[in-house]
Amino acid sequence: MTRDDRISTAPTSASVVPHLDGEHWDVVIIGGGAAGLSAALILSRARRRVLVLDAQAPRNRFAPHMHGVLSRDGYSPLDLVADGRREVLAADGVIETAHVTETRAVSGGFEVTTEAGARVTARRLIVATGTLDVLPDIDGLAEQWGRGVVACPYCDGYEAAGRRIGVLLGSVAGIHKAHMLRSYSSDITVFTALTDPIPDVDRRVLEQRGIRLEDQSVTNIVSEAGLLTGVTLADGTVARVDALFAEPRPVSLDVPLQQLGAARTDTPFGSWSAVDEFGRTSIQGVWAVGNTANPAALVPIAMGSGATAALALNGEFVAEEVAVATHAVNTEQEAGVR
Ligand SMILES: Cc1cc2nc3c(=O)[nH]c(=O)nc-3n(C[C@H](O)[C@H](O)[C@H](O)COP(=O)(O)OP(=O)(O)OC[C@H]3O[C@@H](n4cnc5c(N)ncnc54)[C@H](O)[C@@H]3O)c2cc1C
Repeated sequence: MTRDDRISTAPTSASVVPHLDGEHWDVVIIGGGAAGLSAALILSRARRRVLVLDAQAPRNRFAPHMHGVLSRDGYSPLDLVADGRREVLAADGVIETAHVTETRAVSGGFEVTTEAGARVTARRLIVATGTLDVLPDIDGLAEQWGRGVVACPYCDGYEAAGRRIGVLLGSVAGIHKAHMLRSYSSDITVFTALTDPIPDVDRRVLEQRGIRLEDQSVTNIVSEAGLLTGVTLADGTVARVDALFAEPRPVSLDVPLQQLGAARTDTPFGSWSAVDEFGRTSIQGVWAVGNTANPAALVPIAMGSGATAALALNGEFVAEEVAVATHAVNTEQEAGVR
C-alpha cells in the first residue's frame, strides 16, 4: 500500500459515514491526528462511546520521518496515525473517514454534520482539526516541503547539523530561528527578502555570530535527483543549501469552533481558539486540542493535550454520574425511604 492510498487529502464525499446517521455518542472527536487519537484512546479505554471523524490529512504528512517523539524518533508520521487508529479501534472506539462541515449546539449536546450528509449527536465535542501551513509562493518550494524545506529546528535541525543551512525569514521574529540553528551549523544564510527590513542591530548580532544575510529575493528552489541543493536568487546566482528552514503562515482549521462561536485570543501566530489548561473552550462541553489549541504543539505536545483533555472530560462525566446518584439518594432520604 502506498502512502497516498493510506492518507488521502481528497474530499471525502464518498466516505462511509451515513450508516452512523442519527447515532448519539458520548464524545465526537473531529480530527484524528496525534491529538484527536490520543484523546480517543483514553476515552475509549474509559468505556465511553467515542466516534472520531477524520479527513485523514495530518499536518506532517509531507515528512517521511518525524523526530523528537520519544520511542518513535525517525518513525513515519503516517505510521504513527495508523498505529493510533488500530489502538483506538481495539478499545472499541469508532473511526470514520469524513470531513465535518457543520457543528451546532442542540438539546443535550451537539450535532455534527459531515460532507456526505450524515448527522450524529454527542454529549461533548473535541475539536482536533489542526493547522494548515500556507507556504511562501516560490517555485519548487512546495515540492520540497517536509523534506529539504522544513520549519522546525527541533524536528529537523539535528539532521541538518554541520551542513549548509538556509533560513527563509517570513518575519523579523523569525531571526530567533536563525539564532537557534547556529547551534547546529556554522554555515547559515538568512534570506531576508520576504520580511520587513531587519533592524540594524539585529543584522549586526547575526553577523557577529557568523550568520550571513542575503537580501536578494529567492526566485526558485533548486533540487537535483529529488534533493534540495540550493536557492536561486534574483540575480540568477544559486546559493547552495542542504536544508532550508522556512516560516509558513499557520491557519487554524477550527471551522467547527467558529461555527459554535467559541472565543478566540491573539497569539504570536494570529487569532487562535482560546482554551484553558485542560483544553476547554469558551463553549461548555466543547474542547480543543493539539494544533487547534496551539499551532506550535509538536507531536508529543499534541498527544499530551489530547490526553489531558480526555482525562478532564471523563472526570466531568464521572462527576455528573455521581451527582445523579447523590440526587437520588437525597431524594430518597427526603421521602423517608430509609
Ligand atoms: C513538515 C512538517 C514536519 C513536522 N515534523 C515534526 C516532527 O518531526 N516532530 C514533531 O513532533 N512534530 C512535527 N511536526 C508537527 C506535527 O505535524 C504536529 O505536531 C501534529 O500534526 C499535530 O497533531 P494534531 O493532531 O493537532 O493535528 P494533525 O496531525 O494535523 O491532525 C488533524 C486531523 O484533523 C483532520 N481534519 C481537519 N479538518 C477536519 C474536518 N473539518 N473534519 C474532519 N477532520 C478534519 C485532518 O485531516 C487531520 O487528519 C511537523 C509539521 C510539519 C508541517
